[in-house]
Amino acid sequence: MRDPILLTPGPLTTSLATRTAMLHDRGSWDSDFNAMTADLCRRLEALVDGGDDIVCVPLQGSGSFAVEAAIGTLLPRDGKLLVLANGAYGQRMAQLAEVMGRAVVTLDFGETAPVDPQRLAEVLARDPSISHVGVIYCETSTGILNPLDAIADVVDRAGRRLIIDAMSALGALPLSAANLAFDAVIASGNKCLEGVPGMGFVLARRDALAAGEGNSHSLSLDLHAQWRYLQRTGQWRFTPPTHVVAALLAALDQFDAEGGRPARLARYRANCAALLDGLHALGLQSFLPADIQAPIIVTVKAPARPDWHFDTFYQRVKAHGVVLYPGKLTKIETFRIGCIGAIGRTEIDMAIDAIGRALAETGLAV
Ligand SMILES: *Cc1c(COP(=O)(O)O)cnc(C)c1O
Repeated sequence: MRDPILLTPGPLTTSLATRTAMLHDRGSWDSDFNAMTADLCRRLEALVDGGDDIVCVPLQGSGSFAVEAAIGTLLPRDGKLLVLANGAYGQRMAQLAEVMGRAVVTLDFGETAPVDPQRLAEVLARDPSISHVGVIYCETSTGILNPLDAIADVVDRAGRRLIIDAMSALGALPLSAANLAFDAVIASGNKCLEGVPGMGFVLARRDALAAGEGNSHSLSLDLHAQWRYLQRTGQWRFTPPTHVVAALLAALDQFDAEGGRPARLARYRANCAALLDGLHALGLQSFLPADIQAPIIVTVKAPARPDWHFDTFYQRVKAHGVVLYPGKLTKIETFRIGCIGAIGRTEIDMAIDAIGRALAETGLAV
Protein backbone atom coordinates (compact mmCIF):
# COMPACT_ATOMS: atom_id res chain seq x y z
CA MET A 1 0.00 0.00 0.00
CA ARG A 2 1.53 3.29 -1.02
CA ASP A 3 0.15 6.78 -0.61
CA PRO A 4 -1.49 8.28 -3.69
CA ILE A 5 1.02 9.83 -6.06
CA LEU A 6 0.85 13.59 -5.55
CA LEU A 7 1.25 15.38 -8.85
CA THR A 8 0.41 18.57 -6.99
CA PRO A 9 3.55 20.54 -6.36
CA GLY A 10 3.55 21.05 -3.56
CA PRO A 11 3.21 19.25 -1.29
CA LEU A 12 4.51 16.61 -3.62
CA THR A 13 5.52 12.97 -3.46
CA THR A 14 8.57 12.56 -1.24
CA SER A 15 10.82 9.55 -0.83
CA LEU A 16 10.67 7.16 2.09
CA ALA A 17 14.16 8.29 3.15
CA THR A 18 12.98 11.88 3.34
CA ARG A 19 9.93 11.02 5.41
CA THR A 20 11.94 8.68 7.64
CA ALA A 21 14.28 11.54 8.56
CA MET A 22 11.35 13.08 10.46
CA LEU A 23 11.14 10.23 12.99
CA HIS A 24 13.21 12.06 15.60
CA ASP A 25 12.43 14.86 18.01
CA ARG A 26 15.09 17.52 18.29
CA GLY A 27 15.39 20.49 20.60
CA SER A 28 15.68 23.89 19.00
CA TRP A 29 18.42 24.98 21.44
CA ASP A 30 20.42 21.86 20.92
CA SER A 31 23.84 22.20 19.34
CA ASP A 32 23.14 19.21 17.05
CA PHE A 33 20.14 21.00 15.60
CA ASN A 34 22.07 24.27 15.26
CA ALA A 35 24.71 22.37 13.29
CA MET A 36 21.94 21.00 11.04
CA THR A 37 20.67 24.53 10.38
CA ALA A 38 24.18 25.74 9.54
CA ASP A 39 24.73 22.78 7.24
CA LEU A 40 21.38 23.34 5.54
CA CYS A 41 22.11 27.03 4.89
CA ARG A 42 25.56 26.30 3.52
CA ARG A 43 24.13 23.71 1.13
CA LEU A 44 21.30 25.98 -0.03
CA GLU A 45 23.78 28.80 -0.70
CA ALA A 46 25.84 26.39 -2.79
CA LEU A 47 22.79 25.67 -4.97
CA VAL A 48 23.16 29.14 -6.53
CA ASP A 49 26.97 29.09 -6.44
CA GLY A 50 26.74 31.67 -3.67
CA GLY A 51 30.19 32.70 -2.51
CA ASP A 52 30.70 34.88 0.51
CA ASP A 53 28.29 37.50 -0.70
CA ILE A 54 25.16 35.30 -0.74
CA VAL A 55 23.55 34.34 2.57
CA CYS A 56 20.70 31.95 3.25
CA VAL A 57 17.99 32.98 5.68
CA PRO A 58 15.54 30.15 6.43
CA LEU A 59 12.01 31.02 7.45
CA GLN A 60 9.13 29.08 9.00
CA GLY A 61 5.94 28.80 6.99
CA SER A 62 4.91 28.19 3.40
CA GLY A 63 6.70 29.73 0.44
CA SER A 64 4.51 32.83 0.41
CA PHE A 65 5.77 33.72 3.90
CA ALA A 66 9.30 33.84 2.49
CA VAL A 67 8.17 36.00 -0.46
CA GLU A 68 6.45 38.39 1.92
CA ALA A 69 9.51 38.51 4.20
CA ALA A 70 11.89 39.13 1.30
CA ILE A 71 9.84 41.95 -0.21
CA GLY A 72 9.14 43.52 3.20
CA THR A 73 12.80 43.45 4.19
CA LEU A 74 14.62 44.19 0.95
CA LEU A 75 12.30 46.84 -0.47
CA PRO A 76 12.90 50.13 1.36
CA ARG A 77 9.77 51.79 2.69
CA ASP A 78 10.17 54.54 0.12
CA GLY A 79 11.09 52.07 -2.65
CA LYS A 80 8.84 51.02 -5.52
CA LEU A 81 8.36 47.50 -6.75
CA LEU A 82 7.59 46.54 -10.34
CA VAL A 83 6.10 43.05 -10.51
CA LEU A 84 6.35 41.14 -13.79
CA ALA A 85 3.21 39.04 -13.77
CA ASN A 86 1.88 36.25 -15.92
CA GLY A 87 -0.15 34.26 -13.48
CA ALA A 88 -1.36 33.85 -9.92
CA TYR A 89 2.05 33.94 -8.21
CA GLY A 90 3.02 37.23 -9.85
CA GLN A 91 -0.34 38.65 -8.81
CA ARG A 92 0.25 37.40 -5.28
CA MET A 93 3.64 39.11 -5.07
CA ALA A 94 2.05 42.41 -6.11
CA GLN A 95 -0.80 41.90 -3.67
CA LEU A 96 1.41 41.19 -0.67
CA ALA A 97 3.50 44.31 -1.42
CA GLU A 98 0.29 46.31 -1.61
CA VAL A 99 -1.03 44.89 1.66
CA MET A 100 2.17 45.98 3.41
CA GLY A 101 1.62 49.47 2.04
CA ARG A 102 4.50 49.67 -0.43
CA ALA A 103 4.41 51.39 -3.79
CA VAL A 104 3.90 48.68 -6.40
CA VAL A 105 3.12 48.56 -10.10
CA THR A 106 2.36 45.46 -12.14
CA LEU A 107 3.40 44.79 -15.71
CA ASP A 108 0.92 42.13 -16.74
CA PHE A 109 1.57 39.76 -19.63
CA GLY A 110 -1.69 37.84 -19.32
CA GLU A 111 -1.71 34.11 -18.67
CA THR A 112 -0.25 32.77 -21.87
CA ALA A 113 2.87 34.82 -22.65
CA PRO A 114 6.27 34.90 -20.99
CA VAL A 115 7.69 38.18 -19.67
CA ASP A 116 8.95 40.36 -22.53
CA PRO A 117 12.33 41.89 -21.52
CA GLN A 118 11.92 44.65 -24.14
CA ARG A 119 8.70 45.89 -22.56
CA LEU A 120 10.39 45.70 -19.16
CA ALA A 121 13.23 47.91 -20.45
CA GLU A 122 10.68 50.46 -21.71
CA VAL A 123 8.83 50.60 -18.39
CA LEU A 124 12.06 51.01 -16.41
CA ALA A 125 13.21 53.81 -18.74
CA ARG A 126 9.89 55.62 -18.29
CA ASP A 127 9.70 55.31 -14.49
CA PRO A 128 12.94 56.09 -12.62
CA SER A 129 11.13 55.74 -9.27
CA ILE A 130 11.02 51.94 -9.67
CA SER A 131 13.78 50.65 -7.37
CA HIS A 132 13.12 46.90 -7.46
CA VAL A 133 11.75 44.37 -9.93
CA GLY A 134 10.05 41.14 -8.86
CA VAL A 135 9.76 38.17 -11.20
CA ILE A 136 8.51 34.58 -11.04
CA TYR A 137 11.05 32.25 -12.68
CA CYS A 138 8.57 29.44 -13.38
CA GLU A 139 4.97 30.65 -13.05
CA THR A 140 3.49 27.55 -11.45
CA SER A 141 -0.09 28.57 -12.11
CA THR A 142 0.41 27.62 -15.77
CA GLY A 143 3.94 26.23 -16.08
CA ILE A 144 5.31 29.18 -18.07
CA LEU A 145 9.07 29.57 -18.07
CA ASN A 146 10.16 33.21 -17.92
CA PRO A 147 13.42 34.30 -19.61
CA LEU A 148 15.33 35.00 -16.41
CA ASP A 149 18.75 35.75 -17.94
CA ALA A 150 17.40 38.44 -20.26
CA ILE A 151 15.23 39.92 -17.49
CA ALA A 152 18.16 40.08 -15.04
CA ASP A 153 20.26 41.72 -17.73
CA VAL A 154 17.72 44.46 -18.38
CA VAL A 155 17.25 45.13 -14.65
CA ASP A 156 20.99 45.25 -14.04
CA ARG A 157 21.67 47.58 -16.97
CA ALA A 158 18.91 49.90 -15.73
CA GLY A 159 20.58 50.00 -12.30
CA ARG A 160 17.62 48.44 -10.47
CA ARG A 161 17.47 45.46 -8.06
CA LEU A 162 15.98 42.08 -8.89
CA ILE A 163 14.03 39.79 -6.54
CA ILE A 164 13.37 36.34 -7.96
CA ASP A 165 10.61 33.98 -6.86
CA ALA A 166 12.29 30.72 -7.86
CA MET A 167 9.97 28.63 -5.73
CA SER A 168 9.20 25.98 -8.35
CA ALA A 169 12.55 26.26 -10.14
CA LEU A 170 15.43 26.15 -7.66
CA GLY A 171 17.18 22.80 -7.74
CA ALA A 172 16.12 22.03 -11.31
CA LEU A 173 16.34 25.06 -13.59
CA PRO A 174 19.70 26.87 -13.97
CA LEU A 175 20.24 29.73 -11.51
CA SER A 176 23.71 30.92 -10.61
CA ALA A 177 24.95 34.01 -8.79
CA ALA A 178 28.08 33.68 -10.91
CA ASN A 179 26.29 34.90 -14.04
CA LEU A 180 23.07 36.49 -12.83
CA ALA A 181 22.64 39.76 -10.93
CA PHE A 182 20.01 39.55 -8.20
CA ASP A 183 19.37 40.78 -4.66
CA ALA A 184 17.40 37.72 -3.63
CA VAL A 185 16.24 34.30 -4.73
CA ILE A 186 13.24 32.96 -2.83
CA ALA A 187 12.35 29.28 -2.66
CA SER A 188 10.96 26.59 -0.42
CA GLY A 189 11.90 23.06 0.49
CA ASN A 190 8.84 21.32 -0.89
CA LYS A 191 9.19 21.85 -4.63
CA CYS A 192 12.18 20.79 -6.75
CA LEU A 193 14.25 19.96 -3.67
CA GLU A 194 11.60 17.36 -2.79
CA GLY A 195 11.39 18.11 0.93
CA VAL A 196 8.22 18.38 2.99
CA PRO A 197 6.23 21.59 3.42
CA GLY A 198 6.86 23.92 6.36
CA MET A 199 9.75 26.23 5.51
CA GLY A 200 10.94 28.63 2.87
CA PHE A 201 14.27 30.39 2.54
CA VAL A 202 15.78 33.44 0.93
CA LEU A 203 19.21 33.49 -0.69
CA ALA A 204 20.07 37.16 -0.40
CA ARG A 205 23.02 39.31 -1.27
CA ARG A 206 24.72 40.14 1.99
CA ASP A 207 24.86 43.91 1.38
CA ALA A 208 21.19 44.11 0.29
CA LEU A 209 20.14 42.18 3.39
CA ALA A 210 22.30 44.36 5.67
CA ALA A 211 20.69 47.44 4.13
CA GLY A 212 17.26 45.99 4.90
CA GLU A 213 17.48 46.66 8.62
CA GLY A 214 14.32 48.36 9.88
CA ASN A 215 12.42 48.04 6.58
CA SER A 216 10.07 45.29 7.64
CA HIS A 217 6.48 46.03 8.52
CA SER A 218 6.29 42.73 10.40
CA LEU A 219 8.00 41.28 13.46
CA SER A 220 7.91 37.61 12.51
CA LEU A 221 8.57 38.17 8.79
CA ASP A 222 11.59 40.41 9.34
CA LEU A 223 14.29 38.67 7.34
CA HIS A 224 17.04 40.96 8.62
CA ALA A 225 16.16 40.21 12.26
CA GLN A 226 16.00 36.48 11.50
CA TRP A 227 19.44 36.65 9.91
CA ARG A 228 21.06 38.62 12.72
CA TYR A 229 19.61 36.29 15.34
CA LEU A 230 20.83 33.28 13.42
CA GLN A 231 24.29 34.81 13.13
CA ARG A 232 24.41 35.63 16.83
CA THR A 233 22.98 32.41 18.25
CA GLY A 234 23.01 29.77 15.54
CA GLN A 235 19.28 29.41 16.18
CA TRP A 236 16.08 30.31 14.42
CA ARG A 237 14.42 33.33 16.05
CA PHE A 238 11.16 31.53 16.86
CA THR A 239 10.27 27.80 17.05
CA PRO A 240 11.92 26.10 14.08
CA PRO A 241 10.26 23.34 12.04
CA THR A 242 12.79 20.77 13.28
CA HIS A 243 11.32 17.79 11.45
CA VAL A 244 11.08 19.74 8.22
CA VAL A 245 14.75 20.73 8.44
CA ALA A 246 15.77 17.11 8.99
CA ALA A 247 13.68 16.03 6.01
CA LEU A 248 15.17 18.72 3.77
CA LEU A 249 18.71 17.68 4.69
CA ALA A 250 17.85 14.09 3.80
CA ALA A 251 16.29 15.30 0.55
CA LEU A 252 19.47 17.22 -0.24
CA ASP A 253 21.53 14.06 0.34
CA GLN A 254 19.39 12.36 -2.31
CA PHE A 255 19.69 15.41 -4.57
CA ASP A 256 23.49 15.10 -4.41
CA ALA A 257 23.39 11.33 -4.89
CA GLU A 258 21.21 11.76 -7.98
CA GLY A 259 23.82 14.03 -9.56
CA GLY A 260 22.65 17.47 -8.44
CA ARG A 261 20.72 20.00 -10.46
CA PRO A 262 21.52 18.74 -14.00
CA ALA A 263 20.39 15.21 -13.15
CA ARG A 264 17.25 16.48 -11.47
CA LEU A 265 16.40 18.64 -14.47
CA ALA A 266 16.98 15.67 -16.79
CA ARG A 267 14.57 13.52 -14.75
CA TYR A 268 11.92 16.25 -14.72
CA ARG A 269 12.35 16.77 -18.46
CA ALA A 270 11.87 13.06 -19.04
CA ASN A 271 8.80 13.08 -16.76
CA CYS A 272 7.36 16.05 -18.62
CA ALA A 273 7.99 14.54 -22.07
CA ALA A 274 6.43 11.21 -21.07
CA LEU A 275 3.46 13.04 -19.58
CA LEU A 276 2.88 15.12 -22.71
CA ASP A 277 3.18 12.04 -24.95
CA GLY A 278 0.75 10.10 -22.79
CA LEU A 279 -1.77 12.93 -22.66
CA HIS A 280 -1.67 13.39 -26.42
CA ALA A 281 -2.20 9.65 -26.89
CA LEU A 282 -5.35 10.02 -24.76
CA GLY A 283 -6.51 12.86 -27.04
CA LEU A 284 -5.84 15.58 -24.45
CA GLN A 285 -4.13 18.86 -25.33
CA SER A 286 -1.62 20.72 -23.21
CA PHE A 287 -2.19 24.43 -22.85
CA LEU A 288 1.24 25.96 -23.43
CA PRO A 289 3.38 25.85 -26.57
CA ALA A 290 6.46 23.67 -26.06
CA ASP A 291 8.97 26.55 -26.20
CA ILE A 292 7.61 28.25 -23.05
CA GLN A 293 6.68 25.09 -21.15
CA ALA A 294 8.89 24.58 -18.08
CA PRO A 295 9.37 20.87 -17.21
CA ILE A 296 7.78 21.50 -13.80
CA ILE A 297 4.01 21.47 -14.20
CA VAL A 298 1.76 20.95 -17.22
CA THR A 299 -1.57 22.70 -17.73
CA VAL A 300 -4.02 20.51 -19.64
CA LYS A 301 -7.13 21.68 -21.44
CA ALA A 302 -10.22 19.97 -20.11
CA PRO A 303 -12.15 17.94 -22.73
CA ALA A 304 -14.46 20.43 -24.50
CA ARG A 305 -17.61 18.76 -23.26
CA PRO A 306 -20.62 20.20 -21.44
CA ASP A 307 -20.58 17.24 -19.05
CA TRP A 308 -16.99 17.96 -17.86
CA HIS A 309 -16.73 18.30 -14.10
CA PHE A 310 -13.23 18.52 -12.66
CA ASP A 311 -14.36 17.24 -9.24
CA THR A 312 -15.82 14.05 -10.68
CA PHE A 313 -12.74 13.48 -12.83
CA TYR A 314 -10.46 14.24 -9.87
CA GLN A 315 -12.18 11.69 -7.63
CA ARG A 316 -11.95 9.03 -10.36
CA VAL A 317 -8.25 9.65 -10.92
CA LYS A 318 -7.65 9.61 -7.17
CA ALA A 319 -9.45 6.27 -6.88
CA HIS A 320 -6.71 4.98 -9.20
CA GLY A 321 -3.99 6.31 -6.89
CA VAL A 322 -3.10 9.66 -8.43
CA VAL A 323 -3.83 13.17 -7.14
CA LEU A 324 -4.04 16.06 -9.64
CA TYR A 325 -4.28 19.85 -9.31
CA PRO A 326 -7.19 21.99 -10.47
CA GLY A 327 -6.46 24.60 -13.12
CA LYS A 328 -5.72 28.20 -12.21
CA LEU A 329 -6.64 29.97 -15.43
CA THR A 330 -9.40 32.52 -15.37
CA LYS A 331 -10.77 32.06 -18.87
CA ILE A 332 -10.63 28.43 -19.90
CA GLU A 333 -11.29 25.13 -18.16
CA THR A 334 -8.02 23.33 -17.36
CA PHE A 335 -6.35 21.06 -14.84
CA ARG A 336 -2.67 20.72 -13.92
CA ILE A 337 -0.25 17.85 -13.50
CA GLY A 338 3.10 18.22 -11.78
CA CYS A 339 6.26 16.67 -13.20
CA ILE A 340 8.26 17.11 -10.00
CA GLY A 341 8.69 15.12 -6.79
CA ALA A 342 10.25 11.77 -6.03
CA ILE A 343 8.70 10.29 -9.16
CA GLY A 344 9.92 8.88 -12.45
CA ARG A 345 8.67 7.08 -15.50
CA THR A 346 6.75 4.47 -13.47
CA GLU A 347 4.68 7.11 -11.69
CA ILE A 348 4.04 9.07 -14.90
CA ASP A 349 2.84 5.89 -16.61
CA MET A 350 0.57 5.20 -13.62
CA ALA A 351 -0.81 8.74 -13.89
CA ILE A 352 -1.55 8.39 -17.61
CA ASP A 353 -3.21 5.05 -16.95
CA ALA A 354 -5.31 6.57 -14.14
CA ILE A 355 -6.35 9.51 -16.31
CA GLY A 356 -7.25 7.23 -19.22
CA ARG A 357 -9.37 5.05 -16.97
CA ALA A 358 -11.07 8.04 -15.36
CA LEU A 359 -11.97 9.44 -18.79
CA ALA A 360 -13.38 6.09 -19.88
CA GLU A 361 -15.39 5.67 -16.67
CA THR A 362 -16.93 9.11 -16.99
CA GLY A 363 -17.73 8.66 -20.67
CA LEU A 364 -15.30 11.42 -21.60
CA ALA A 365 -12.75 9.36 -23.49
CA VAL A 366 -12.03 10.93 -26.89
C1 LIG B 1 4.57 27.26 -4.52
C2 LIG B 1 4.88 28.62 -4.97
C3 LIG B 1 4.85 29.71 -4.09
C4 LIG B 1 4.49 29.59 -2.63
O1 LIG B 1 3.25 29.07 -2.42
P1 LIG B 1 2.83 28.57 -0.96
O2 LIG B 1 1.48 27.99 -1.19
O3 LIG B 1 2.83 29.73 -0.07
O4 LIG B 1 3.87 27.56 -0.56
C5 LIG B 1 5.23 30.94 -4.56
N1 LIG B 1 5.59 31.12 -5.84
C6 LIG B 1 5.62 30.10 -6.72
C7 LIG B 1 6.06 30.37 -8.11
C8 LIG B 1 5.26 28.82 -6.31
O5 LIG B 1 5.29 27.80 -7.19
